[in-house]
Amino acid sequence: MNSYNTDSKGRAICPSFLDKMSCQLGHTKAFLFDMDGVLFDSMKNHAEAWVRAMKENGLTMSREDVYMNEGRTGAGTIDIFAKEQWGREATDEEKEHIYKVKSEIFNTLPHVEQISGSAELLQYVKTLGMQRVIVTGSGQKSLLERLENNFPGIFTPQLMVTAFDVKHGKPHPEPYLMGLEKAGVEAKDAIVVENAPLGINSAKAAGIFTVAINTGPLDDAILYDAGADIVFPDHECFLKTLAKMSCN
Ligand code: MG
Repeated sequence: MNSYNTDSKGRAICPSFLDKMSCQLGHTKAFLFDMDGVLFDSMKNHAEAWVRAMKENGLTMSREDVYMNEGRTGAGTIDIFAKEQWGREATDEEKEHIYKVKSEIFNTLPHVEQISGSAELLQYVKTLGMQRVIVTGSGQKSLLERLENNFPGIFTPQLMVTAFDVKHGKPHPEPYLMGLEKAGVEAKDAIVVENAPLGINSAKAAGIFTVAINTGPLDDAILYDAGADIVFPDHECFLKTLAKMSCN
């Protein structure tokens, strides 16, 4: 674990980013959480499943491609690679088939653990009296169904936006705009917690203050370039900062 207020390379986080977060926290009513890479340590399995499912269906997708496209809906991801490599969009049947293969492979992979510190972070946000909303591009039912088991009493089905709810996935703002609407709060009164560049794009396009927790292999600079207001190396560091600010 990194020390308090340092990024994932151990460098101090810019004090002005911390000031901005402190100001934001003062009027925040809801936290909108991404799921993969924020609550579940599932990205390694998603990467493996995507690479294999695409290959079985004649498309090439690298593990890095998976991290760079994290947050898109399955259909949106397949379309990008089909257009690039087949010169056309995938048909609905092709998209359905490839995503089914991807989900089946995913379900054969080692059990996905919750990310260290995620339960404590969620519990603390609940203690602060903030609403908790899930905003995920995932349609992976095996994970969605685990939310209540892993994080009891934190989320309700009414405050969830998944791949089944939106027309446009991340990086489009629709998922986070829908999250705000479900929570009944304005963009200025919410904080998003994300780990992926496209998720950050989506949240910022919706006008929301965005905290990134860098739980994957990408450099912090990619997350800042995507628009993150502040990047933390892990949940423990974010929680310590949050706790300190809430007490001030
Ligand atoms: Mg994510």
